[in-house]
Amino acid sequence: MKKQIMSESLKKLICAMSAPENCREDVMRLLAEYTPAIAEDLELTSMSYEVSVPATFGAVGSGMKGSGVMFDNGGSRAVEYKSRFETRNGGYLELIGTSAAEDPEQEDTFKTVCGLTFSLCGKINSVSDLLMLSVTDSLTGAMNMNGFRKTLAPQAGRGLLRGHASVFLNIKNFKYINQKTGMVNGDMILKELVVRFRELCGDNEGYIARLGADNFVLALKKEQVPELTAMLRSFRVELKGAEGDAEIKVYFRCGLYYMTDESTFEDLMNCCTCAYAAARGGKGDFVRYEPYMTEDEHHTKKVLVTFPEAIKSREFQVYYQPKVRCSDKKMVGAEALCRWVKDGRIIPPMDFIPILERFGNISHLDLYVVETVARDLREWLDKGITPVRTSLNISRRDLAITNLANKISEIVDKYEIPHELIEIELTETYTTEEFPMLLRLINELKGFGFRISIDDFGSGYSTLTMLKSIRADIIKLDRAFIKDMTESSSEDRIILKHVVHMVNELDIDVIAEGIETSDQVGFLNGIGCDVVQGYYYDKPLPRAEFDERLADPEWYAKRG
Ligand code: C2E
Ligand code: CA
Ligand code: CA
Repeated sequence: MKKQIMSESLKKLICAMSAPENCREDVMRLLAEYTPAIAEDLELTSMSYEVSVPATFGAVGSGMKGSGVMFDNGGSRAVEYKSRFETRNGGYLELIGTSAAEDPEQEDTFKTVCGLTFSLCGKINSVSDLLMLSVTDSLTGAMNMNGFRKTLAPQAGRGLLRGHASVFLNIKNFKYINQKTGMVNGDMILKELVVRFRELCGDNEGYIARLGADNFVLALKKEQVPELTAMLRSFRVELKGAEGDAEIKVYFRCGLYYMTDESTFEDLMNCCTCAYAAARGGKGDFVRYEPYMTEDEHHTKKVLVTFPEAIKSREFQVYYQPKVRCSDKKMVGAEALCRWVKDGRIIPPMDFIPILERFGNISHLDLYVVETVARDLREWLDKGITPVRTSLNISRRDLAITNLANKISEIVDKYEIPHELIEIELTETYTTEEFPMLLRLINELKGFGFRISIDDFGSGYSTLTMLKSIRADIIKLDRAFIKDMTESSSEDRIILKHVVHMVNELDIDVIAEGIETSDQVGFLNGIGCDVVQGYYYDKPLPRAEFDERLADPEWYAKRG
């Protein structure tokens, strides 16, 4: 009898397998369900398979080998038919059927049915691969955000992640590592991180996802966090280089969040990201989430969202803090300091400047302040009031702005302000990459005739040797420096004295800021620092009040 290729069972199997939502597990289930009936239709006595699937995505979906019996009615196995299918990536599937007697037609039908089934499996496999890709990071084999959400959101919803912590992780200076050692090595570090995380967690409910670039999010049992941080703190890798292999140490910055009974998947993501933002803001390298950080994050977002409109509607005001020469109590300069006046409330610069610095809008504000100061100076000059040299703060983030010196000069020229009335305060920068940019900017600014001062000198990063290469006109001794010196040992005072002497000898002017007491004034005068700025004389003043100081050169002398 001619075997019917399209038996009812085969038709049903094809229909069931064609459903678009099928995945690998469904294929296995359907084959197990329908094969006996198909084999029976073909009048086979047994049917079995042998399979080998190579690993597709590195560690994920690792390969498998196996064999099994799909149907066996115990009948005679006089004849054996084989159908073997090989995949391009080196895998294969072999289907073996046995029959009681030789029958070429039966063999043909068997092979056709096997071919049909295999091509259907193949289609589903490639769909599965696509599905796998949609949840996997192809470089590292970790999950991607989609996979992380799909895996963990349901678990968090059922309270299964109660004993877990989440970690947002980023590699410090990854861009630099990539540039210096090459992308291949950069990729290797990312892969190695995933491997080591998996080793650490074993089968112990550890999840890792790469969100893009060098950003990862992890979830693991709370008790494993110390092991994780220890692993990260001692992370070293062997890198391949043109001049041979070299070991480097990799540094990480992490935000950690310990889940509570109520934590949702959103909390798991948001809180570790928030802690990471705090780490980036300078809180440390491994920062644990605390509720106030969410407020900080809301504040950050609010600042960034409202800033463009605020600058348009001139909500930023410039306050002026006098610089006073102690010997004759004359105001010899002023520093322009920015305030944000929002809904009648004054927001201090520390509440918005670091945010603008981090997210790149600070240059708008700094140039706005340049313009405001230039306009004020013009007004004083037009009114016949003698202004004082005014200093402006330029953020180190502004170094990236092209033609910054030109831009400042253009604004100042628009108001026809003599350049020697303008002083630019720059803080010492600490990356070697930035230093040449700083030097260039200083030279350009000096070329335009602006005075340069080094702000916050003594706050940690500045060095005396750097003074030589920078050729600044003025150094401003940091408030903390003075505070420490006046409160502590005589040794510290000696150091400060020598610093001031040396700066004077280099023909650089010196000013002390943050001066609050007459003791401090006396001490500074004694060591040769005559000009001071601080609450002792005045706080930063709104324009109207500052005008009064300008109008009366004897103001401080009269006050005694
Ligand atoms: P800074 O440049 O070091 O400015 C000196 C800060 O010390 C000012 O804080 C000033 O009000 C404060 N200060 C002055 N004398 C005393 C004192 O005797 N005691 C105490 N405790 N503090 C004193 P302010 O105005 O809050 O500014 C903070 C920082 O914000 C500034 O530090 C500067 O880094 C930044 N900033 C302010 N305006 C601007 C700006 O327009 N652009 C940029 N890039 N940064 C600015
Ligand atoms: Ca300053
Ligand atoms: Ca300062």
